Amino acid sequence: MKKKFLTYEELEKMDVLEYFECDCHSSKHSFTFGDSPDIEGNFTDPVYLHIHMAQYMPWYKRIVPAIRYILGHKSKYGDWDSVLLKQNDLERLRNLLDQAIERRSKNDGK
Ligand SMILES: [Zn+2]
Repeated sequence: MKKKFLTYEELEKMDVLEYFECDCHSSKHSFTFGDSPDIEGNFTDPVYLHIHMAQYMPWYKRIVPAIRYILGHKSKYGDWDSVLLKQNDLERLRNLLDQAIERRSKNDGK
């Protein structure tokens, strides 16, 4: 299995790198789409979605949730956030996914 997590420097070196911002324009709701060939030039690695981890509270207010986390407390709802895709980003994301699928299907033909 390939490495699952990339450093920011590795992400910046990806061949395909597109930034998506939430419709609410908050930089806290954003993700980056990344795709790059492996060392042999084949697209076998997964497509990479680099998702911003929001920090809504100052550090001193995150202590209590941090202690709960350390003790294994889990919210019954989980920890989720969302990105609202803008109308013009829908086609852009679809095109990126189509291109990623196309690159991988070429690998299958080798
Ligand atoms: Zn938003």
